Amino acid sequence: MATVIDGKAISAKVRAEIKAEVDKMTVKPGLAVVIVGEDPASKVYVRNKAKGCEEVGFYSEVHELPESTTEAELLALIERLNANEKIDGILVQLPLPKHLDEKIVINAIRADKDVDAFHPINTGKIMIGDYDFLPCTPAGVMRLLKETGVEVSGKKCVVVGRSNIVGKPQAMLLLQQNGTVTICHSRTADLKKECLEADILVVAIGKAKFITGDYVKPGAVVIDVGMDRDENGKLCGDVDFASAEPKASAITPVPGGVGPMTIAMLLTNTLKAARLFGKK
Ligand code: NAP
Repeated sequence: MATVIDGKAISAKVRAEIKAEVDKMTVKPGLAVVIVGEDPASKVYVRNKAKGCEEVGFYSEVHELPESTTEAELLALIERLNANEKIDGILVQLPLPKHLDEKIVINAIRADKDVDAFHPINTGKIMIGDYDFLPCTPAGVMRLLKETGVEVSGKKCVVVGRSNIVGKPQAMLLLQQNGTVTICHSRTADLKKECLEADILVVAIGKAKFITGDYVKPGAVVIDVGMDRDENGKLCGDVDFASAEPKASAITPVPGGVGPMTIAMLLTNTLKAARLFGKK
């Protein structure tokens, strides 16, 4: 039987650590979350982020803009937030409506307030291992591994998915901890063969229950980043938990695995930003 990694409990622990630190601060860290349009999933994420801020004692602002917002209007808001000393972290919820250029918008956020770590300066810093902020989801995965006592050094790590927000930075973080890393994607010739070599298998492809037990080496640690819907509309991951769990030594469930860590890491980054701005 695999250890089921309890992301909810580990996230609660991280948030409690942050709250204890914030309770001692005279000036509270501040996070601004910007959402454009009516995407229901994005609205839930934004609500959860605001709730997370409240729980740890941060100052927070949510800016809900209509779908019709122009690029100039959005950039003007970012400019104001960039200059606002109450705000240490700025997060623009993605995806943006089609008429807005995500690249231009992300580049407009000050790198030292970019708590999502999507700005090219921050992604470049991750590449050379000299960073202030780590992207929240891959950082959450690393914390889950640490809290579970999984040693990365010397392990064969396979990351399935190469997105800029999950797969690529995930691979860099595993490499920085001395894992031997393979990145797989939709053109990988023999995905099953690659996965079967993994001591640590991280899956982020966005395909419900795609990775079954026959992709899992006996004793592997399986981290499922996916947030998908199954045939009944129920939330599930990219890994078929039922067939993978008996093979794994440890595995994350969905929900309750990686998901809760993402907000905890966003709060971690915002606290770090506030400290770097000299808040005490
Ligand atoms: P994405 O941008 O759509 O990227 C998906 C990646 O998976 C791509 O690199 C793609 O390869 C690869 N892929 C797709 N089908 C594949 C296949 N059959 N075999 C091998 N590789 C395949 O997705 P993402 O933003 O990284 O998100 C991935 C999943 O994680 C989604 O379910 C998302 O909802 C979830 N997610 C969860 C959290 C969280 O907080 N828990 C945060 C972010 C994302 P190509 O590059 O070749 O197309």
